[in-house]
Amino acid sequence: MQVNWRWIHAARNSYAVLYAACERDGFLLQQVDNPADDVTCYSLNSLNAASYRDEIAAADCLTIVGGPHATACPREVAGYADYVVVGEGEYTLTRLLEDVRDGGEGLIPGIMTGSFYEPAKSSVRLDAYPAFSEMKGYVEITRGCPHACGYCQTPQIFGHCMRHRSIDEVARFANRHKESRFVSPNAFAYGSDGTNPRWDKVEHLLRACRHQIFFGTFPSEVRPEFVCDESLSLVTRYCANTKLHFGAQSGSDAVLAKLRRGHTVADVLKAVDLCREYSFVPVVDFIVGLPFESDDDQRSTLDLICEVSRSGIIHAHRFISLPGTPLADTVARDLLPEVENMLGKLALRGRLTGSWNDPAVRFFRRPSNDIP
Ligand code: SF4
Repeated sequence: MQVNWRWIHAARNSYAVLYAACERDGFLLQQVDNPADDVTCYSLNSLNAASYRDEIAAADCLTIVGGPHATACPREVAGYADYVVVGEGEYTLTRLLEDVRDGGEGLIPGIMTGSFYEPAKSSVRLDAYPAFSEMKGYVEITRGCPHACGYCQTPQIFGHCMRHRSIDEVARFANRHKESRFVSPNAFAYGSDGTNPRWDKVEHLLRACRHQIFFGTFPSEVRPEFVCDESLSLVTRYCANTKLHFGAQSGSDAVLAKLRRGHTVADVLKAVDLCREYSFVPVVDFIVGLPFESDDDQRSTLDLICEVSRSGIIHAHRFISLPGTPLADTVARDLLPEVENMLGKLALRGRLTGSWNDPAVRFFRRPSNDIP
C-alpha cells in the first residue's frame, strides 16, 4: 500500500515526526504535491484548512487528515476526509494504516469518520517514538502545557500535563547534527510540571547535547516568568543563541488576566531587563486587537511594545480566534489609528515583524525563515 504525505510547509515538522513513526512500522510516507493513490495524509491548521478542503473532498484516493484543525473541528473535517486523526498522530496514524492495509474499516480509537468516533485511549509517550529519521526535524522535548491561554490550541490538543522526552533520547537526536533546535511550549520548563522550574534537569539536558544548540528561540520559546538568572546563565553557558523568544501578548494586566496568561506586565519588563543584562536580544510576541481589550488596554500594549523595542524585536500578531479555544467565535477588534501608525513605524525601523495589519498575509504566504 502506497502512503503519501501532502507537503504543506507549515506542517513540515509534523511530517518529520510522522515520517519517523510510520517508517518504524513499515510505511514510507512519500512526499506529494497532490493527492495520490493509495492513501494521502494531510496535517492542517485552522488557518490553512480552507485551502485544502476542496482538494481533499475531490481526491480519488483515501484521505487521512490530522493536525490542530482536525483535532479542533473533527466533525467538520470528517465531512470531506475519509478519516480524521483526532489528537496525536504517532500511534493512531500507524494503527490506522495497518488496519486499512489489512482490509479493515479503520474504525479504531483516535479516528473519526462520517459515522464513527472513539477517542484515543492514551497519550503518546515521547520516548516511544523517534524525534525524526530521514526527514530531519526539530527535537520535540516537551508536549502539553499546564496553562490555558485563551487563544491557544496547544493544551486542547496535547493536554495540560507536561510530558518530556528523556535526556538520553533528546541527546541521541540532537547529537546527530551539527546544530539542533527544539520544540516545546516552554523550553525552560523542561523536566518540570510547567510551573515550578527544574534548572537541574535543564542543565543536564543542555550538558548532554554536544553540538551547537538553540534553546529558548523558535520553536522552543519560553514564558517570561521563567527568564531569570538561572535560565540565562544556562543558555549563556551551553547554547549558541544570542536571542531569547518569549510571549508578552499584552501590556495590560487586566487583559493578561482575562487571557489567563499566568504572568504580569512586570514579569515581561523584568525578563527584558535581564536579557539586556545577559546580552540577549529579547524577541517578544504581542497579540493586538484582542476582542475584549479597551482603548486604554490597547494603548498600554503599545507603550509596552515601544519599551521592549528599545532593546528587542517585536513579533506582533493580529488576534485570530481559533476553534477549540476559549476565545473561539470571538472577533478581533480594530486597532486605534495611533497603534497602527506606531506599529508601522517600528516595522519600517526593523524593530517589529509579524502580521499585525492583515492576518491573511501571515497565513497564506509561505512563511519566511523565522528561525532566529
Ligand atoms: S500560549 Fe504557551 S503557555 Fe499559553 S497555553 Fe499555549 S502553549 Fe501554553
